[in-house]
Amino acid sequence: MPKKDNTNLLLTYPEPIKKLVTGIIVLLFAYLFISQIFLPDERDIENSYCQVFQSEWTQIKDNGERIPVDVPSKIPAELGEVVTLSTILPETINDGTHLCFYAIWQDVDVYIDGVHRYHYNTENSRHMGNSSITRYLFVELESADAGKELSYQFSSNVKYAGTMSQVLIGDRYGIWQHLFEGSTIKTVISCFLFLLSLFCVLICLILKYVYKRQLSLHSLSLAIFFCSFWMLTELEVRQLFIPNLSAFSSYAYWSLMLIPFPMLIYLDEIQNGRYRKVYFFPLIYSTVVFFVLTALQIFNIKQFTQTLIFVHIGLLLCIGTIITTIIIDFLKKHLSEYIFIGIGFFGLLATGVLEMILYYMDTGLTMGTVLAIGLLFLLIMAIIKSGQDLIASDRNKQQAIMAKNAQTKFLANMSHEIRTPINVIIGMNEMILRENEDSSIQGYAHDIQNASNMLLGLVNDILDFTKIESGQLELAEDTYNLSTLLQDLNLLFKARAGGKPISTKVDIDTNLPSKLYGDDIRIKQVLVNILSNAVKYTQQGSVTLKVYCRQINEEYITLCFSVTDTGIGIKEEDLAKLFDSFKRLDLNKNRTIQGSGLGLNIAKQLVELMNGTITVKSKYGEGSTFNVYIPQKIIDAQPIESIDSSPSQTKTTTSKTGKFTARNATVLVVDDNAVNLSLMKGLLKRTLIKVDTASGGKQALELTKEKTYDLIFMDHMMPEMDGVEALHLLRKDMSNPNHDATVIALTANAISGCREQYLGYGFDDYFSKPIQADKLDDLLMRMLPQELITWVD
Ligand code: ADP
Repeated sequence: MPKKDNTNLLLTYPEPIKKLVTGIIVLLFAYLFISQIFLPDERDIENSYCQVFQSEWTQIKDNGERIPVDVPSKIPAELGEVVTLSTILPETINDGTHLCFYAIWQDVDVYIDGVHRYHYNTENSRHMGNSSITRYLFVELESADAGKELSYQFSSNVKYAGTMSQVLIGDRYGIWQHLFEGSTIKTVISCFLFLLSLFCVLICLILKYVYKRQLSLHSLSLAIFFCSFWMLTELEVRQLFIPNLSAFSSYAYWSLMLIPFPMLIYLDEIQNGRYRKVYFFPLIYSTVVFFVLTALQIFNIKQFTQTLIFVHIGLLLCIGTIITTIIIDFLKKHLSEYIFIGIGFFGLLATGVLEMILYYMDTGLTMGTVLAIGLLFLLIMAIIKSGQDLIASDRNKQQAIMAKNAQTKFLANMSHEIRTPINVIIGMNEMILRENEDSSIQGYAHDIQNASNMLLGLVNDILDFTKIESGQLELAEDTYNLSTLLQDLNLLFKARAGGKPISTKVDIDTNLPSKLYGDDIRIKQVLVNILSNAVKYTQQGSVTLKVYCRQINEEYITLCFSVTDTGIGIKEEDLAKLFDSFKRLDLNKNRTIQGSGLGLNIAKQLVELMNGTITVKSKYGEGSTFNVYIPQKIIDAQPIESIDSSPSQTKTTTSKTGKFTARNATVLVVDDNAVNLSLMKGLLKRTLIKVDTASGGKQALELTKEKTYDLIFMDHMMPEMDGVEALHLLRKDMSNPNHDATVIALTANAISGCREQYLGYGFDDYFSKPIQADKLDDLLMRMLPQELITWVD
């Protein structure tokens, strides 16, 4: 059943439903705004109030002298000097009224009518720095305090000694409301930026670790995350949420100090490393500043707030370098690679400069708001760029996949096409070998046989390779007899080595389990390749095959094969290229040895498909050892029977030595290729079987109506009516005397899994072209009624 395409489902989601949902969302938002603007204020704020505390202040000097001062203002004072200011409280004060002072890195004591009322010093709650952290102080007043003198004493160890900020009066709720309203934009932007950058960081991490896709946005969102975190640490309302402000305040500086690192890394990535050396300097500076300032803070030598200028220099250096490289890229016409980011950085630069001017002018106007807007702008630009990159990379990938698919299809088609003429060459050559007695012609025919077999092997390799590359190769796993597999391997190994002056050794662990579950055909293919190579590349000495196993658990073993030869060996620098496709090594030495350079690549891919591994150890000039490890499920743990060199059981059941005839048998061969028909006739000549031929499905059906056949060979791909259709019509037509005849699929389609496919169509067996005479004999012996077969010595 075809899979449902969910993406399509989404795309075709009914339009009216989409419109309905959009309409509902718009209405809900509209109602939200209208109701909040026009309906009465239900907040419990009638009784809460807050206003700036307007009063006459005097500074009381040590000698008792009183000097009038403005509040807010900067009163001249030494670091650590205690400044005392005094004022008269209003004539009427309600209980619950508070005075709110803003203490910037200051220790504070408040007296009313000479009585100590309030003390602020974080000495006991901080473990580094020697100043109390900046915060709002709330001094509660009583009605009895009305008209009394309030004296406010403060001192600071940093540049804020003598800085007296604005004083607010009101109830707590009213004061907080006032403070929050004054910083709404800043709070909202900072929180939004924080959440957005955090979201981007998380998305990038998910893409990296789950989907293995690296986005450069990762570094930039981390940089902006640090910026927004710094802004959060500076928010007015922070003291409502943070239990220990003293420790938290350090994070404002650490965040600032960390910004250059991901920022420069980001730029380096999108500029393809063009300015890596230049970025080295701000990075070194920032690293030094980070460690030195942290050490100074930890050891209470200098507080972060006193060394902030170095952090600012680092940031300026970072942004200055970045802007310079962007300008150079603009001049060298590289900027088009990241135009959005360039614009984003210029926006950030503008807001950053404005922010610093406002900070050093002590206006207290923005404290991060302007910069936050610049950062938001940059982040949005970076998100746009990443979106573009993702789309571009997806498009490239798609194109690459399409190109590869086209190539794979072409190769598969070509291999199929090439098999057809090879079929004719092998078949016709077989006829020459059978019918010709002249020894020199026999010699030529043997050469043709060798060459065409090799060509056939190559085509088969290409077919396998293209199937693996396009991910279409599936394992045909089943229960199999390990001793049969090993016996076949042993025979093939000996056959390959025959005629070469090398000794072959086979060492099989007798404790191997007798029955396993897996794809024995593919295991054999891998080992045949490695053994053939070992024989091919060894001129003298020996080739040894060792088979043993390692128990994984009760159910599984790792089947281990080791093939050691004393051949030419592989150079160390070539080992890494060994499993590359179409790579042949050491061509000077191997020029005379035939090969495609595909075998080991296929072997490795097959082993990996079976969740196994393949390793090589080799010494150039001395020999190589290939190890193959494949996990297999145990079906029967009984140890295998001993392996001898006689042919395997399964193969011998049907093949009897000697020749046979079947003069009373009639066979129909259906193929659209006339050469194939005459080849088949030629191959069957010796058996004396009566052969009819048909050039297509239609003609075959006509013939089958007239005569009963003992066997029908049916080609698959034929014009007009193909083999499968002809078979179905034959089976359906009960009046046809051949409706239940044995029909064999005859096809050049030789990919693994084909047998199952043809049996699924209803064929009784499958026979692949090129026709090999001995296999054809096997098939006939198996499929023809036994009473028709006569054995000939
Ligand atoms: P080929 O068809 O060329 O043998 P393979 O993929 O099987 O292709 O092997 C790739 C290359 O690895 C060979 O061309 C040969 O140079 C080298 N090679 C493989 N097996 C051995 C071996 N046992 N000894 C030395 N060289 C080997």
